[in-house]
Amino acid sequence: MASREDILLELNLTPTWRRREPLRDSERVFVEPLPQSAPPVAVPEDAGLREARIAALTWTEFASDVDACVACGLCKSRNRSVPGVGDLNADWLFVGEGPGAEEDARGEPFVGQAGKLLDNMLGALNLTRGKQVYIANVLKCRPPNNRPPEAHEAQACRPYLERQIELLRPRLIVALGRSAAAWLLGTDASIASLRGRVHHFRGVPLIVTYHPAYLLRTLPDKAKAWEDLLLAQRTIAAPAHVPLTVAALGKQHLV
Ligand code: URA
Repeated sequence: MASREDILLELNLTPTWRRREPLRDSERVFVEPLPQSAPPVAVPEDAGLREARIAALTWTEFASDVDACVACGLCKSRNRSVPGVGDLNADWLFVGEGPGAEEDARGEPFVGQAGKLLDNMLGALNLTRGKQVYIANVLKCRPPNNRPPEAHEAQACRPYLERQIELLRPRLIVALGRSAAAWLLGTDASIASLRGRVHHFRGVPLIVTYHPAYLLRTLPDKAKAWEDLLLAQRTIAAPAHVPLTVAALGKQHLV
């Protein structure tokens, strides 16, 4: 077998030099270590590009995009994102405020006490979640301690609800409570002043009613919410040009 010397010779790499003694300190060259490169930082997405990307999402892409969103601080405190649930061909869209604790744990809107009442409200209209009904929120992540959405959070989440409405093209929207009404109608007017007539969001008829969580605390207003739902039912059944008000409807009661 050829020795190392033979190989070096063959490769024309001789003579080889070996130092007999170790280097003295004065002979050593000290090389400054290169500064460590900073850990990668998530570069904030350009707002315009983000909106354009969300505006082009398909239903298949929608939930995972919401889940990856870091546009406001709520992604840090939430457990699960809550994109929305229901029939992707629904005529009815119900819009609430934002996930609470149970929704945050399960990733589905309106699954707590308020959700049970919403299910009863749907049942009273012969509707069930998942069939002809889609449920979404203004915010897709839970605000700490269930506080109302802050303006910058609602703004950051806005493209998602807009995309849901665009994909769904519902025949009717029901705004549940003040945050949803404010988001959809661009007003901070009270529910009392907004209910009882048909509004529109980008041409889609819109009914405002009380939030189920409010109704759990304020039982007498359940009757008013039932009137609102009947108005919603009449609106979805009516030709688009017929103006309807609560006054035109008979009274029944939510159970
Ligand atoms: N309240 C809401 O507004 N949305 C939910 O999903 C649950 C409670």
